[in-house]
Amino acid sequence: MSKQLILALSKGRILDETLPLLADAGIVPGEDLGKSRKLLFDTNLPDVKLVVIRATDVPTYVQLGAADLGVAGKDVLLEHGAEGLYEPLDLEIARCKLMTAGIDGSRPARARRRVATKFVNVARRYYAEQGIQAEVIKLYGAMELAPLMNLADEIVDIVDTGNTLRANGMSPRELIASISTRLVVNQASMTMKHARIKPLLARLEAAVQQRRASEAPARAERGSA
Ligand code: AMP
Repeated sequence: MSKQLILALSKGRILDETLPLLADAGIVPGEDLGKSRKLLFDTNLPDVKLVVIRATDVPTYVQLGAADLGVAGKDVLLEHGAEGLYEPLDLEIARCKLMTAGIDGSRPARARRRVATKFVNVARRYYAEQGIQAEVIKLYGAMELAPLMNLADEIVDIVDTGNTLRANGMSPRELIASISTRLVVNQASMTMKHARIKPLLARLEAAVQQRRASEAPARAERGSA
């Protein structure tokens, strides 16, 4: 097993929020990730390297040990499954909700509801738990279009502000899960590289706590306004 620690980061929205948190934890990439076409990066810590990959690939890299640690949204983890992974830390960034949604004012008419989503495993589990018969259709993007085109009665998707739904005449229905970004660790790495991983985890945990403490007064102020 390599002596280095490989940390897999999710590209896109999560990356923008992850990098400042890593910096707070004293982990800084050797070059600007946004400006490079490279995928593997050195950091200021000689034994820590970063890979920047699609969010949905992060659990696979960590599960199979190609990366020791990963940063991934809980939505991606719920969909992928947690086998071979520890999830020791909620990074408390990129918060959103995984919800069902449909066209304003409409209710699913079909006995067997048609649901469009990229979260097919989450959706199947959710509707089964609710005792609702559902035909789950996998889509790769623009979920909001499916009910408008009568491809589906409902969608399961990520909702942040709700603006995307509103702009398409849709509204959220049921909450499936509250989502935030998590740190995941390969279970074998956690044992074999514990001496390296433990201090890294402690630094990240301290950075999350520091943020929570600095955001608490602002939250209280917003609450009392
Ligand atoms: P909004 O219009 O603010 O409700 O944002 C909804 C869209 O933004 C969704 O379709 C998602 O694809 C994306 N989105 C929002 N928050 C996140 C997040 N934390 N992680 C991944 N995608 C997100």
